[in-house]
Parts: sequence; C-alpha cells; structure tokens
Amino acid sequence: MKILVTGGAGYIGSHTCIELIAAGHDVVVVDNLCNASEEALKRVGAICGQDIDFIEADIRDFNALDEVFSNHAVDAVIHFAGLKAVGESTRIPLAYYDNNVNGSRVLLSVMEKHKVNTLVFSSSATVYGDPASVPIREDFPLSATNPYGQTKLVVEQMCRETVAANPDLSIVLLRYFNPVGAHASGQIGEDPKGIPNNLMPFIAQVAVGKREYLSVFGDDYNTPDGTGVRDYIHVVDLAQGHVAAIEKSHGKAGCHTYNLGTGQGYSVLDMVKAFAQASGKEIPYKIVARRPGDIGQCYADPTLAKENLNWAAKKSLQEMVEDTWRWQSNNPQGYSS
Ligand code: NAD
Ligand code: UDP
Repeated sequence: MKILVTGGAGYIGSHTCIELIAAGHDVVVVDNLCNASEEALKRVGAICGQDIDFIEADIRDFNALDEVFSNHAVDAVIHFAGLKAVGESTRIPLAYYDNNVNGSRVLLSVMEKHKVNTLVFSSSATVYGDPASVPIREDFPLSATNPYGQTKLVVEQMCRETVAANPDLSIVLLRYFNPVGAHASGQIGEDPKGIPNNLMPFIAQVAVGKREYLSVFGDDYNTPDGTGVRDYIHVVDLAQGHVAAIEKSHGKAGCHTYNLGTGQGYSVLDMVKAFAQASGKEIPYKIVARRPGDIGQCYADPTLAKENLNWAAKKSLQEMVEDTWRWQSNNPQGYSS
C-alpha cells in the first residue's frame, strides 16, 4: 500500500515509517516540522536504504493536502500530526483545538474528496481520565482533565460520526499508553524541545549530564512504592501495532478502537533503577509534590489488539531503557548533535 504518514518526522511517526517500509509499503510523509527535524527523515532513509518522500506542509492547509493526494496514489493514512504537551495545552488551548481538531477535520475532508477510506488515528490513554480500576479496557468510561485530552476525545468522536455517515470508511483509533525507547540503531529517537515533560527523556537527560536530578512527582500514591505506575511501551512495538492496524483494517469498513500497551505497569522508581543499570550512570532524584492532574496508576488490558490485530508488544523494559540510552548517549543534543 501507499501510506500517507502525517507527522511522520516526529518521534512515533519516524519509527512507524521504518516498520511500514520493512513490511513492504510505500510511504509519503507530510509534516510542518513544528516539533521535528528533517534530519530524522534523512536517518530513516539511511536505515531503510531509500529516500523518504517528504512534503513540508501543514495538515490544516486544505489546498496543500489536496495537492499531496492529487500527486500521490494514497491508499491509506496514518495520522500522527498534532500537538501533545499537556501543560502547554492548558496555556494555549486554542492552538491545540486548531492543530488537533481542525487539522484532523481538514484531513478527513481531503480524504473524502479523494475517496481514500482507511485511516489510523493516534489517540491516547489520556482519554480514560482517572480510571476507576486497572487494567484499562477499551469500553471503560472516557473523560479528559486537560485541553490536550479533550482534543483526543473530540477527534475520536468526529471519527466515529464520520464513519457512521460513510459506510465505506474504515478508521482505527489507537490509544497509546506510554511510548518510550528508540530504534535499535541509536540513529533516531525522541528529541524533545526544551525541558522534557515526560519521565523517560528526562531520566535520559539526567544520565547524560544535561540535567542535575530527576524530580519524582509524589511518593504517596496507592502503588507498591508510592510513585506513579504507567504502562511503558517500546516505540518499535508501537510502530508495528500501526502496521498491523492498517493491514487488518484496509478495505473493512467501520470504526474500531484498540489499546496499545504491554499490560504491565512500572513505577517511576522502577524506571530510574532500570535506566541506571542500563547506562551505568547514577540517576540522582528528589521526591517532590505530586504533579497536578497526575493519576496513580494507568496500564492497559491489551487483549483486544491481540485478538483482532494479532499484535502484542514484545520488547522488555531492559530493551526500552537500553535503546533509549543508545540514542541519548550517541546524540546528547538530539538531532542537532
Ligand atoms: P511528535 O511531536 O514527535 O510528532 C508529531 C509530529 O507532527 C511532529 O513531527 C510535528 O512537527 C508534526 N505536526 C504537528 N502539528 C502539525 C500540523 N498542523 N501539520 C503538520 N505536521 C504537524 O509526537 P509523537 O510523540 O510522535 O506523537 C505522535 C502522535 O501520537 C500525536 O498525535 C500524539 O498526541 C500522540 N500520542 C503521543 C504519545 C506520546 O507519549 N508520545 C502518547 C499518546 C498519543
Ligand atoms: N514523572 C516524574 N517526574 C518527571 C516526569 C514524570 O516523576 O519529571 C512521573 C509522572 O508523575 C508519572 C510518570 O512519571 O507518574 C510518567 O509521566 P509522563 O509525563 O512520562 O507520562 P504520563 O503522566 O502522561 O502518563
């Protein structure tokens, strides 16, 4: 298939391009580079042994997308493009609604115009809010505690309604848990701008000497060691989940939702320990107050993806931290190293 990957220069998108090409698909990337570097795609090309077809464009620009679909015989779309920082979304909510909701609306209308009927959308476990219990199943109640989460809920709903109105359309909503790790080559990985919000890139920057210590946000949660528990999933497993989703859903109308997680929860201190072991570096940390809006535990029941997509995460915590460390230590300044 020829697959349009929006946001394909970003963290998850770049890894997914590699897995799509490895599975025999053609890829064309649209990205406005607002949170990515073209260098990532050059490295993806080097890993795959072929240049990546790249168009620098904004998904909110109908005419630009229209031209992409006119010039490429796109069979299906994987839609990563969007803004993803929870804290920032509370400061500039309108930018989040514009990028994430309006951008997705424009993409769906251009797909409709060109009769492209297969879409895989990047949703998030954040749509479960503070779950009443774990592990989390896809039929759990949905809620959002910040504008970022709200945009994911709105786009999910827009997708369900668009499928209900168009019997030819096939959309898969993938709810990711906590993507971490990097390609085993150490050539591509997560390259956050400024101070990382997420745990794993923050730990990696402490290990490499860019930051003095990790602030652990709370040790009084109802978890085995009191620190927050999450379902960390290797980005390459996640990327392969997209290949499975697009291959299974192409040509089969309907809207389907899957958790992409491992089903296994690890605490903040588990992650610190595993990273220190993999890197051979001490990870100094201080326990500080809880981060507003955080929840105690969040991990997936990944059964549905196993049953329907024949996909399950395979990579261990050790591979997640070792691969992150290889990327971080080879590229201490990310793509600008
Ligand atoms: P990322 O920021 O690395 O990738 C997103 C890409 O989209 C970037 O390359 C950015 O330049 C591009 N982009 C943003 N707005 C655009 C626009 N209007 N037009 C064109 N390109 C645009 O983020 P990521 O971690 O790879 O996340 C990809 C998707 O997965 C996002 O939708 C995110 O919300 C979702 N997601 C991520 C996580 C996570 O923890 N990384 C968890 C759950 C869901
Ligand atoms: N966390 C932390 N210090 C940090 C960043 C995160 O203690 O600098 C904790 C956070 O409270 C949560 C876990 O690490 O328990 C994962 O946080 P992240 O922001 O990576 O993911 P999310 O909260 O979105 O699941």
